[in-house]
Amino acid sequence: MILTAKWILPITSEPIEDGAVRVLDGKIVALGKKVALTQSYLEEERLDFGQAVILPGFVDAHTHLEFSIFRGICDDLPFSHWKLQLTKKSNSLSWNDWKISAELGVLEAIQSGITCIADITATGASLEAAKKGGLRGIIFVEVSEMNHLKVGEVLSEAKEKVAQWRDKTKNTNLKIGISPYSVYNACPQLFQKVSEYACKEKLLLGLHLAGSKDEYNFVKYGSGPLANEYRELKGWQNLLWQPLGVSPVKYLENWDVFEAEVLAVHCIQVNDYDIDVLKRYGVSIAHCPKCSAKLGMGVAPLSKFLKRGLNIGIGTDSPASNNTMDFFDEMRVGLLLQRGIAQDVNELSAKKFVELATLGGAKALRLEREIGSLEEGKKADLIAVDLSHSHQVPAMEPYSALVYTANQENILLTMVGGKILYLNGEYKTIDAKEVLELSEPIRRKLR
Ligand SMILES: [Zn+2]
Repeated sequence: MILTAKWILPITSEPIEDGAVRVLDGKIVALGKKVALTQSYLEEERLDFGQAVILPGFVDAHTHLEFSIFRGICDDLPFSHWKLQLTKKSNSLSWNDWKISAELGVLEAIQSGITCIADITATGASLEAAKKGGLRGIIFVEVSEMNHLKVGEVLSEAKEKVAQWRDKTKNTNLKIGISPYSVYNACPQLFQKVSEYACKEKLLLGLHLAGSKDEYNFVKYGSGPLANEYRELKGWQNLLWQPLGVSPVKYLENWDVFEAEVLAVHCIQVNDYDIDVLKRYGVSIAHCPKCSAKLGMGVAPLSKFLKRGLNIGIGTDSPASNNTMDFFDEMRVGLLLQRGIAQDVNELSAKKFVELATLGGAKALRLEREIGSLEEGKKADLIAVDLSHSHQVPAMEPYSALVYTANQENILLTMVGGKILYLNGEYKTIDAKEVLELSEPIRRKLR
């Protein structure tokens, strides 16, 4: 199949104007000028997107698809209160509800040009939905427990889950990771044991780290809503928790958690020492600019991370906190926040954000050999974005047009491993009408 458009953005090389990509057996086999490629393969099926850009699919370096049904349910709350609400309301959902909710997330991901996800899930609903939708990604088994006496039991359950989920993802585009959720719901012994296990099994370890000020205060001073209301809600109020006097990053360093390959989400409450630690251990960061701003968590020092050479991907963190999984919004808000804070227009570029959204995410998930750029031999995970609308014309420069003018409705094609998941408004792997209909009664339950 030959895909053609006004622009091809390979990311690792210069844009190709009036370009084409040839896809064969799930892989990219050639890139070049439209005229040359189409003439060489006259008999081959062709898809022309016109005034559009073809680029690698977006890598959502952090999400929870199963929480999609919470869109707009816990709005305008500070982080800890949002988390409390979410935890309370979660109790009313059945397995089937979680599954529909995750499918709702998959619908949006596919329609937003997200081809790869890093998803933390306790129920496994994200795995089922991502598999059904045909997404690529890493599904992280969520582990949480604050009682150190229960660590053995929780770890065996997690190991069993990893084995089962690995079975379920055989011959799919999905891999399994493990996630001690965060410092406020996994005790240090659990972190340490999971890290040892992740090293042994070569699993990527995902965790939320140094996100809110409340998390920082919980670790350093043993105070705040995460030390009180949240622990009470989880039934951990009688377990001893003492102020540790250090930052969340330093705390986990002390427990050797970074010995594993780690994907840390947020990393907002970090100082220069913490950034050095993250660099020293090769920790990747999932940067979630919109969610962090919306919950009042702050703005991560992205420029510092990039100057130190850390692997950075962009994450949406699910519609429960962020309301949409629009990657264009994510790039736009992410870039503008950094520039606004730096008071410097040279602080990061549209091109850099497109790179973070694709190749950066692939590197953060250790998948850059397979995806993240359009190169011969890589998996055909790619998208086409329309640039022909009144809010976009004239699109002079593809990177600027993508970041400053495009939105999720402009996605024309989402392809994973050469398979079309979405084309010109039509879903190919999932019944959108059914998912939307089934979502409504769950939404009523949550109100
Ligand atoms: Zn998250």
